[in-house]
Amino acid sequence: MEELKCISCGGKVDINEDLMIGVCEYCGTEQALPEDVIENIEYEYRQKNLHKAQKQARLNKRSIFIALLLISIFIVIICVHNSVVYISTVRLAKNLDYNERPTEYVTCYYTPVNELIVTGYLNNVDEVGVVTFKWKHDGENIATTQYFSKSYICSCITNDKTWPEGNYTVEIYIGSSKKPDEVFKFTVLGY
Ligand SMILES: [Zn+2]
Repeated sequence: MEELKCISCGGKVDINEDLMIGVCEYCGTEQALPEDVIENIEYEYRQKNLHKAQKQARLNKRSIFIALLLISIFIVIICVHNSVVYISTVRLAKNLDYNERPTEYVTCYYTPVNELIVTGYLNNVDEVGVVTFKWKHDGENIATTQYFSKSYICSCITNDKTWPEGNYTVEIYIGSSKKPDEVFKFTVLGY
């Protein structure tokens, strides 16, 4: 592009792109810009906006892709979580009401204690199945009980005198599991 010259003094003319006029560096005279200069400025302006728009579109595409990816991962996690059968909130109870629901929870027992009670919940089970409780006192098997349910589970073992002091373990098996799905430990303390 040819350099513009001032119409009054012949000096160098600066182009003001905002106002679309030429201003002389020396005398300040303003003049209209020739057609080709205007077209060139407009062309560059359009190109700049086009690049900006393309860049934005690429960013948007990437954001949408990442969002979809995260949503997919989230859905997969939810599906896997909802399909796995597991036992939760296993607790020690003191008494059961007529519905076999605990009336009081405890963290350990004190002798003399006749009933040892463990309750919990089965999750993601569609139909009633069997849960097996294997009770151990200081490593020795003392009792095995079974409970049929699809949600709430419990096991209660009774001793006419008192259960001895020591460490107890309750292994809980869902259906025909070979290894325990949950292991619960507690102690019986002497007064
Ligand atoms: Zn001038």
